[in-house]
Amino acid sequence: MDSAHHHTSMPARRTSRRTLLRGGTGLALAAGLTGASLLTGGAAVARSRASAGVDYPEAEWIPASSSNYTVADRPAEYPVEFVVIHVTQEYYDDALAIFQNPDKAVSPHYLTRSADGHVAQVVREKNVAWHAGNWDYNTRSIGIEHEGWIDAPGTWFTDALYEASAALTADICRRHGIPVDRRNIIGHDEVPGADHTDPGPYWDWARYMELVKAQ
Ligand SMILES: [Zn+2]
Repeated sequence: MDSAHHHTSMPARRTSRRTLLRGGTGLALAAGLTGASLLTGGAAVARSRASAGVDYPEAEWIPASSSNYTVADRPAEYPVEFVVIHVTQEYYDDALAIFQNPDKAVSPHYLTRSADGHVAQVVREKNVAWHAGNWDYNTRSIGIEHEGWIDAPGTWFTDALYEASAALTADICRRHGIPVDRRNIIGHDEVPGADHTDPGPYWDWARYMELVKAQ
């Protein structure tokens, strides 16, 4: 994840980070109840998704703060050539709260949940999310966050996570004409100038690429 730790312009906020996260989680829950129509059943959820216009039909629309990405008109404005793979180093709900916090200056396009592979879309693909720590790569990529910690793959890198993420990446590559190879599907650690190490040495690239190709 390219989160607040990456944005050294706001170190003062780090000390109160837990407080911010707790507040943000409450907002996330409130937004979920109204936005996803949990109380009114599947048809309403389907309508909600259609009106939100998620780019990936399986995704749940849980928008990031509009302060945390750049509105654009891709691919007309910038070509979309890369998928960048991240690991959050945060829990799913805490990551969503960060993306919804306008002070955090960070967002991916998608967040995948470890336990069941549930996919949230938080930024539309036509817009430039702030995840790669490199403006040029941000403009030309789609970022996918994965819930978990890079040093605990046995806990977090589940079958469900790999399979759901691979299906998502395959769909992105089909829609944008991105070749399914390791030149175009890269880790955050492979972005030029990246000072982040995710998805880390235990992300199973061979398995992941086979799953993407099998879609
Ligand atoms: Zn990252």
